[in-house]
Amino acid sequence: MSTTVKNIALAGNPNTGKTSLFNSLTGAKQRIGNWPGVTIEKKEGSLLNHPEVNVIDLPGTYSLGAHTEDEMVARNFLLLEKPDTVINVLDATNLQRNLYLTVQLLEMGVPLIIALNMMDEAGKNEITINIPKLAVLLKTPVIPTIARTGEGLPELIQAAVTPDKTPNLRPCNCPKQAFQLDYGEKIEAEIKMLEQVIAALEVTPASYPVRFMALKLLEDGEEFLRTIHFRETIGEAQTEEYHKLCAFRKQSLDRLQKVHGENLTTVLIEKRYAFIDTLLKQVIISPDLSQAITFSDRIDRIALNRYLGLPLFFLAILLVFKLTFTVSSPLVGLLEEFFTRLGDLLAILITNDLLASFFIEGIIGGLGGIIVFLPIILCLFLAISLLENSGYMARGAYLMDRYMRLLGLEGKAIIPLVVGFGCNVPAILATRTLKSSRDRLITIFLIPFMSCGTRLPVYALFTGVFFQEHQALVMFSLYLLGILLAVITAKIFGQHLFPGETSPLLIELPPYRLPSLRDTLIQMGEKSLSFFKKVGTIILTMVMISWVLASFPWGVEYAGPESFMSKLGALLAPLFAPLGFGTREAASALLFGVVAKEAVVSILGVLYGTGQEALSTVLAMNWTALSAYSFMVMTLLYIPCAGTIGAIKAETGSWKWTSFAVAYTFVLAWLVAFLVYRGGLLLGLV
Ligand code: GDP
Ligand code: MG
Repeated sequence: MSTTVKNIALAGNPNTGKTSLFNSLTGAKQRIGNWPGVTIEKKEGSLLNHPEVNVIDLPGTYSLGAHTEDEMVARNFLLLEKPDTVINVLDATNLQRNLYLTVQLLEMGVPLIIALNMMDEAGKNEITINIPKLAVLLKTPVIPTIARTGEGLPELIQAAVTPDKTPNLRPCNCPKQAFQLDYGEKIEAEIKMLEQVIAALEVTPASYPVRFMALKLLEDGEEFLRTIHFRETIGEAQTEEYHKLCAFRKQSLDRLQKVHGENLTTVLIEKRYAFIDTLLKQVIISPDLSQAITFSDRIDRIALNRYLGLPLFFLAILLVFKLTFTVSSPLVGLLEEFFTRLGDLLAILITNDLLASFFIEGIIGGLGGIIVFLPIILCLFLAISLLENSGYMARGAYLMDRYMRLLGLEGKAIIPLVVGFGCNVPAILATRTLKSSRDRLITIFLIPFMSCGTRLPVYALFTGVFFQEHQALVMFSLYLLGILLAVITAKIFGQHLFPGETSPLLIELPPYRLPSLRDTLIQMGEKSLSFFKKVGTIILTMVMISWVLASFPWGVEYAGPESFMSKLGALLAPLFAPLGFGTREAASALLFGVVAKEAVVSILGVLYGTGQEALSTVLAMNWTALSAYSFMVMTLLYIPCAGTIGAIKAETGSWKWTSFAVAYTFVLAWLVAFLVYRGGLLLGLV
């Protein structure tokens, strides 16, 4: 038995059923990570019953150019990692467009198997496909599948694992010769010439078909050579060869320009589509659906209606919000209750005070702080997965795009931002639905400005004392301030930190489909698991640190005036003096708030030695309305809580960006609170 791992990659257009197939092929055990250098999700898993076979779900793409991050990730994986088998997933109801990618894969010479998916829908639409003939014309095995029901899966697995032992899958009467598309006399002549140049090179980059290299050299030029690390592998001594290739390409292009005039790329694309059209005429019989009004069209008359569309989408977002925070809240309550009880039990069992405190406040407190996110995250991903897989998310993104584009973001970014008002942590996880790394990073940086639920107790306390008349108005002003700063930040970051365009709007709207329960459950499960692995440790660490600071020197009141936490607060207090609250109490409360913002209120109670009841009276004596407002601004904007910091680290995969987020929000919070306080003083407010 050989133990070498075999790699199978799934490639195909978006919405063809790659992920559904991936789930069927691997089961629920999957490894989720990021592709190197980008925040695009990478999914891997072992093939069921074949632990030696590794399956990879590539990002969905229409082509293998270098125009989008998705394309680049997919293309680079195919070119550089050279998977042993590529399964090209096609939507059988959409062959013309799907086959464009297939042609590119065939030209690349990757070992290809075609999974002709959505056969059930093809049947419903009365589309008949001559599968053996398609296989012969493409010189590639074609296996009909229905990813939702698992039909065709055994055949697909067999073909992928033991292609040689399943001769019946090989299109029998096709010569075993590589696929080749005829680009016409002139272009072919240039390809031949470049082939010879490449073949004559001293160092040929190994194992790419020469014709493919010639074609890509012509089509993509230096960009292609860079992608295959041509320059690096041949070393500096032979860069001559590199320049030689580029020079020959230049000559070819010049000659071709005289013939074709127009852009060579366009000609190549047209040739490929011409081939596809000819091919389809031979293999497909389908009724003319161009005039037919489908089920999806009927729904879209309402869903995309000029007046109803947006309100409906907002309703959908509201439902996501409700589902995430309302449905989960009894469960969160239960879990909190459980951890309190567990703490009580430990208090009885553990007699040593230090140990008891360590376990109850430190460990249980930390674990409790992580686990309570579980129901929220499960519910959020249930909602998002339903939206995505039903096809409605694409409509919402389409409707919102015009407005979000004003912020330099794609339409879908509205969802994480709205979820942020409930809790920033699931909101940051929800940025996974965004296409480009750029949009994801910008959105992640905006989310902390969305005033989440845990900041409310702080607002409630201070507005209750100082703004009794206008409590609601003052709170509203804080929410608005957060949104305003998010808009400004989006503009600044979009132009300076991450210049570039947001990903172009894809107008393609997938048909409405009933979401599959299994895929939804898998998606929920994997997201929650990755959350605990990545975010959990960070929250636990921060809770532990705060426990040490609050409990030592051992023997002092927890987080009381004698604790290290309070001493540290006293040290930091001068930093907040210009903002109107340069006291030990305020500084310690903010320090504690980094672990969880709701702690701000209880810590103030402990430090003022009043408990919660008399806190209002003490505050009224020691604070002014202006300093209270300034403090609320600080609480709104400064460093996100431990969970948010953990989520940012998990999603960006970078400590650099995480520290940046912490520093940026802190500096901004300080500046805005400063402006508020000093401005207020100037205006004679107190
Ligand atoms: P991906 O974008 O290529 O990863 O596609 P997904 O796996 O997310 O599938 C997109 C949608 O098509 C989901 O709603 C799936 O449930 C659905 N789907 C996938 N395969 C099939 C199939 O064979 N038949 C039908 N009717 N629906 C499918
Ligand atoms: Mg997918």
